[in-house]
Amino acid sequence: MKQYLEKYGFIDRVDISGEYNMALGITHLGSGSRGNCAIINSDDTTVMIDCGFSIKQTEKRLLSLDLNVSDIDAIVVTHHHQDHSKSAMGVSKKWNTPLYCNQFTAKRMKWESDECNIFGNLERIDISSKLSILPIPVPHDDSDNIAVIASDKNNHRAAIVTDLGESTDELIKHLSGCEHISIEANYDNSRLMNGPYPDLLKRRISGRGGHLSNEQTSEILERVCHPKLESIVLCHLSEKNNAPHLAESEVLMGIDENFFGEIAISSQNGPDFTHSIGNGKEILTI
Ligand SMILES: [Zn+2]
Ligand SMILES: [Zn+2]
Repeated sequence: MKQYLEKYGFIDRVDISGEYNMALGITHLGSGSRGNCAIINSDDTTVMIDCGFSIKQTEKRLLSLDLNVSDIDAIVVTHHHQDHSKSAMGVSKKWNTPLYCNQFTAKRMKWESDECNIFGNLERIDISSKLSILPIPVPHDDSDNIAVIASDKNNHRAAIVTDLGESTDELIKHLSGCEHISIEANYDNSRLMNGPYPDLLKRRISGRGGHLSNEQTSEILERVCHPKLESIVLCHLSEKNNAPHLAESEVLMGIDENFFGEIAISSQNGPDFTHSIGNGKEILTI
């Protein structure tokens, strides 16, 4: 764990008295329709958001970050679709790690109430005194999907938002206070409309319960962008209906003059670069 913290910049500086600066870290193990999994970390608390890869793949990707399965303190599942939930119960049982989800997700996954911790939407989950998760409901295809807002004890905030057809006032309100935002940019509108999908599927993807287009993502980011927004990760890109350069250029057109941070794309084959926010602002003692 210490190796991971040092390697990926969560410990910004260690001095001889043993003091170090902590940061809130976000790493995508991979993102897309074939699987989603991300790690949020603060101090010695680590949370996995979604577990859409096989158990073997998940463990392999964790290992490549120098993380052990025993470092994961909780698994939060956003919604029941397989690309987010596939191995969540399997790893929860194998690693003896508590699983969190809302009632609808548990029902659709046929998870029993003694197998998972049920949260209500907009109900804060304190994983430890160092890290909390706030689930924000978002509209998405026959599910009760949530966006995740993570906050540490210094009130640094990071968001992970995927699988939604449109934003809501509640989501915009919470995104406005985040220093990091991972958000889906699922499809390029003209690629989707001119592509091979049947009309019904095209309508489903672009509808209120579907996914965000590059244009919608750009509009959302334009609304929530503020001077302290340090990093943006575009994720859940469709391999058929999008391309990294299309997503990035559309988003940059919307936020360009107001955004001074870094922008990255999360691919299906992570882990990707780790983003850490809050570096150098607090000094904690080991
Ligand atoms: Zn998905
Ligand atoms: Zn979904």
